[in-house]
Amino acid sequence: MSDDIHDIVIVGGGLAAAKAAETVRSDGFDGNVTVITEEPERPYERPPLSKGFLTGDKTVDEVYVHDADFYAQQNIALRVGDAVTELDTASGEVLTRSGDRLPYDRLLLATGATPRRLSLSDRPLDGIVVLRTLADSRRLAERLRAVDHVTVVGAGWIGCEVAAAARTLGAQVTMVDPLDVPLVRVLGAEVGRVFADLHTDHDVDVRMGLGVDQAGGTDTVEQVTLTDGSTIDTQLVVVGIGVTPRVDLAEGARLGVDDGIVVDQTLATHDPRILAAGDAARAWHPSLGRHIRVEHWANALNQGQTAGHNLLGAGESYDRLPYFFSDQYDLGMEYTGHAEDWDRVVFRGAPERREFLAFWLRDGRVIAGMNVNIWDVMDQIQTLIRSGVQVDPSRLANPDIPLEQLAPR
Ligand SMILES: Cc1cc2nc3c(=O)[nH]c(=O)nc-3n(C[C@H](O)[C@H](O)[C@H](O)COP(=O)(O)OP(=O)(O)OC[C@H]3O[C@@H](n4cnc5c(N)ncnc54)[C@H](O)[C@@H]3O)c2cc1C
Repeated sequence: MSDDIHDIVIVGGGLAAAKAAETVRSDGFDGNVTVITEEPERPYERPPLSKGFLTGDKTVDEVYVHDADFYAQQNIALRVGDAVTELDTASGEVLTRSGDRLPYDRLLLATGATPRRLSLSDRPLDGIVVLRTLADSRRLAERLRAVDHVTVVGAGWIGCEVAAAARTLGAQVTMVDPLDVPLVRVLGAEVGRVFADLHTDHDVDVRMGLGVDQAGGTDTVEQVTLTDGSTIDTQLVVVGIGVTPRVDLAEGARLGVDDGIVVDQTLATHDPRILAAGDAARAWHPSLGRHIRVEHWANALNQGQTAGHNLLGAGESYDRLPYFFSDQYDLGMEYTGHAEDWDRVVFRGAPERREFLAFWLRDGRVIAGMNVNIWDVMDQIQTLIRSGVQVDPSRLANPDIPLEQLAPR
């Protein structure tokens, strides 16, 4: 650990920030650690916000990353409800909204991402919402219990999970997306159709190939008009059309930005005192051989830890395969790898019963895999991906052949 580090400042109050703060302390750093988050809460995890917390199965205490007294116990100065407004790399200081200048020797940008919004009406209408924060989820939970019908715009992960939560709470749901199949960008049409069927089977009105053109109502939304001219009576519109990384501080400080704060495999920007992690970071991935930005829980958790080590000079490479999970109704899934383009998808098991593995192949090699309602296979799938071996698709599809046999360690 370097002796010239006295002040560590962590900007952001999500999982990446919380894990980085925890790690610098567990690595033995005894200088000043400040975490600055603009939210009024201590750091929490977002996945329950569209699942158990929304449906009431999880309490708020279950979503926080650490207990309330953790930050005081660890001598971490947690500044909630404040924000960093400027990064002065020349003086090595951050400026806060509350008017302070805080010096840093090492800085982590864990600023996350912000949801994209849609402009659906000329005047502000209540009842058109996005879901990112605990406050959003609290309000949405109340509204979902009060309405008969909700329109979900966007059939990505957030849209699908909100649709499932809304149905679980008894609301009628229409899910609209201009693409042909839910989740098609990540999963492709074959696997995406499993999710279309899942929602149709739970009485969601799945309207693919259509956008929402406009929303009408007096003060609160009362109906939406779709791009084919049809209208839907609705009392709530949840927009889940993706997020944008929060890069304004990095941009202002002329750090490299390209759909995320560009960092190397140690999560360092081109200013070696400044690192970035989580949804905001576009990191060089040594195994994949390119920069990727990953908007998932495990990435925030693990990059947060690596950033913690590296704020203290460890120089650790971040080389984990991307991983994420989702729960919708009685379907639980995990996905690992990184498939942007592929030649074919191979199924093992029974997609129609929603109990299967799926593999994305390029040049005969597995580049991503997913398990749906089948568990404890993640390690084998990751070994298969990392091995880079060419696999015989018929053997890959055959549940009698253990995955280990396809990719010997
Ligand atoms: C509803 C929902 C459900 C999800 N479900 C899943 C799931 O099932 N599986 C999965 O893998 N992933 C899921 N994710 C994604 C996962 O939660 C994110 O990848 C993760 O939260 C990213 O963590 P982060 O710390 O990088 O950023 P964030 O969690 O976005 O935290 C960043 C924080 O920094 C604060 N901030 C930003 N700029 C400043 C500033 N200038 N000053 C001070 N504070 C600032 C923000 O207000 C925010 O609190 C879900 C996300 C959402 C929103």
